[in-house]
Amino acid sequence: MKSISSKTVNAVKEKLKDTGNILILSHYHPDGDAIGSLLSMTRFFSKMGYVVSAALPDASPVFFDWMQGVNEILVFERKPEIIEKVFLEADLIFVLDFNDPSRLKDMEPFFERSGAMKVLIDHHPGPKKFSDVIISDVSVSSTCELLYEFMKSVGGGDIIDKEIATALFVGILTDTGCFSFNSSDPGTYIRVAELIGYGINKDEIFNHVYDNYSENRMRLLGHVLREKMEVIPEYNTAFISITMDELKRYNFVPGDTEGFVNYPLSINGICFSALFIEKFGHVRISFRSKGDFPVNLFSKKHFNGGGHLNAAGGESFTNMKETLRLFRSLLHEYSEELK
Ligand code: 5GP
Ligand code: MN
Repeated sequence: MKSISSKTVNAVKEKLKDTGNILILSHYHPDGDAIGSLLSMTRFFSKMGYVVSAALPDASPVFFDWMQGVNEILVFERKPEIIEKVFLEADLIFVLDFNDPSRLKDMEPFFERSGAMKVLIDHHPGPKKFSDVIISDVSVSSTCELLYEFMKSVGGGDIIDKEIATALFVGILTDTGCFSFNSSDPGTYIRVAELIGYGINKDEIFNHVYDNYSENRMRLLGHVLREKMEVIPEYNTAFISITMDELKRYNFVPGDTEGFVNYPLSINGICFSALFIEKFGHVRISFRSKGDFPVNLFSKKHFNGGGHLNAAGGESFTNMKETLRLFRSLLHEYSEELK
């Protein structure tokens, strides 16, 4: 991890002196790092005496419902009018765990219009310039790991408590796939050791996040692995597609398909995996890879998305059949890189 520049920290500290209201935002289709970032920063600044609101474009997955403060997160899709108000009141806005303002979806225009000071804290490559201050470190496991250092550097070592440490740990745990990737820096383990020192219950957190699924989600997973996974050994690729009908059949709730995209990668030899989910008017896509195939560039070029080298998302605005046809045809084009 790079150290956060003192110039940046001082700019934020200076602004905090004349700040009353803070707004904390994260990305569409929030993951553990997004939720952990929102909840830890909300509690951190609330304890410092600020009026803090946290908002997301869409709802957080049900398996984060156990986290303290999750019910207070404002969800734009549900209550746009309240969010309009908090944008107007904010003196300082933190944008966490994304690199492109389009990931704010319908909140983007409110964000653009706001005159508040904007601070981005993130670990995705190539952040666009949409904030006054950027704290970006691609080498770090997760935004939560970076936030831990940020909190300490704004003078909050004493403010961090078990709840904040728990939320930060959730982000690190989920963004490293339980320390299976993005986690080769010894510093990550030192920070995790410090977080455990705040009294967090690591085993209980693991159970909450990973052993907390509904029967429907398990059955949907069984169905798609058996019936909807295509394996293309010549391109070391496998992918899964899921229609709206299938989601309905298994009483889908947000978060149910989380992690599905990783399953094909556990097949021997597979280094590129994709998950296609039919939505109203578009197909939402997740990409994962092992090794050096850059799924972020692939997604940016062909599927209106981006992300990290080995984990990215995107969208297709044609139907599922056309989307899969395009995907299959692209594999041929990338056959050398996929060897
Ligand atoms: P997921 O497949 O879990 O939705 O996303 C994987 C990674 O790619 C996450 O780090 C996420 O923030 C990023 N990502 C997902 N969708 C997009 C997108 O449309 N644009 C960009 N720039 N990043 C994305
Ligand atoms: Mn992240």
